Amino acid sequence: MAHDASFNPFQMARAQFDKSADLIGLDQGTRDLLRSPLREFHFSIPVRMDDGTVKVFEGFRVQHSDARGPAKGGIRFHPQETVDTVRALAMWMTWKCAVADIPLGGGKGGVICDPHNLSAREQEAICRGWIRQMNKNVGPVEDVPAPDVMTNPQHMLWMLDEFETIRGGRYPGMITGKPVGMGGSLGRTEATGYGAVYCLREALKELGIDVKSTTASVQGFGNVSQYAIELYHRMGGKVICVSSWNQAEQKSVSYYKPDGVDLAQLQAITDRFGGIDPAKARELGYEILPGEAWLDREVDILIPAAIENQITGANVEKINKRVKVVVEGANGPTTPEADAVLFKRGIFNIPDFLANAGGVTCSYFEQVQCNMNYFWERDDVLNKLDAKMTAAYHSVSDLARNKKLYMRDAAYVVAVNRVAAACRDRGWV
Ligand code: GLU
Repeated sequence: MAHDASFNPFQMARAQFDKSADLIGLDQGTRDLLRSPLREFHFSIPVRMDDGTVKVFEGFRVQHSDARGPAKGGIRFHPQETVDTVRALAMWMTWKCAVADIPLGGGKGGVICDPHNLSAREQEAICRGWIRQMNKNVGPVEDVPAPDVMTNPQHMLWMLDEFETIRGGRYPGMITGKPVGMGGSLGRTEATGYGAVYCLREALKELGIDVKSTTASVQGFGNVSQYAIELYHRMGGKVICVSSWNQAEQKSVSYYKPDGVDLAQLQAITDRFGGIDPAKARELGYEILPGEAWLDREVDILIPAAIENQITGANVEKINKRVKVVVEGANGPTTPEADAVLFKRGIFNIPDFLANAGGVTCSYFEQVQCNMNYFWERDDVLNKLDAKMTAAYHSVSDLARNKKLYMRDAAYVVAVNRVAAACRDRGWV
């Protein structure tokens, strides 16, 4: 998942939005409102490092829309973070919450940093500094952050603690993805990966394919990917290739095992950022291939579950003829150029803001539980999640079938229509 500095995710998000606005004949005022974020914040976070020096980190929060409810979305820690990436991700959150039909808007945050090279104390200082800058503009009824790329429940708890210290009260609904027992929800960790596989299950049913006869190749081995593989394996599918980022060599590597990867075995040789140890994998019988090899494997299903801009005009033709379904666990993995090729080849795509909506849907359940101060059993959470994801999937696939739309376009039509209606009903446009 090497970074490409020339790629601008916000341009991509806007191009997708413009296409769907044309499709539904959206009026100019609503179009102008939804093309840009409602608000954004850029700030500096000074941190005393372990060696005694002070380092200043750049932080962002973009609130794209709060028409349907408080802004909602994760905070990413990434060395190549840009404000345009955060803007795109904030916009995608608006569509994600709308397609999942939960009463939340869209936002995203980021800090330019690499947690691989930061101690726990330094990361805590960044989290607390982020909240010191943003505390007036986030909160349970304003904007609700969550984990994302390279952030986790501990980061969320530090942020909550800083917020509560400043505000002088307990506000567990201010942030989601918290540790279980500290306001977190059972099932939240699994939710994004499981949600993607619930969608996949429904798609395979519609396509008349038996999941037990399928194989898959997965990009990324972080939280989303690991739980997607776990559930897909339990349903009887077989993952034969996983690609993950190798920090030491600063490139991604694919791990290939034609008779199926062993999830627990791979997890045992993986760091907390999803980096698999190539030497140990080789000893365990995995073939070590170049990073992009996950894309050309002879499989039925591809699951990009790493970061944006991974299936592009430059590599889309490598996708094997056998591939029938792409399930986008990551946000923005497929560029519009590559999308046109998937469409032409008749590959069934489950688009990102539908496929990975399980995380934020469970975040919504977490807020509900915090508000009630009553926490549900894991099975209750997962059953509710399955019901929500299945309903969201069918609202999109029914429209796609009836109007003969590509799945991404159908998802946009459903989501943009809902958000536009909220803007209209509030009298904004
Ligand atoms: N960061 C996750 C996403 O992109 C989850 C957001 C949330 O739970 O608010 O969907």
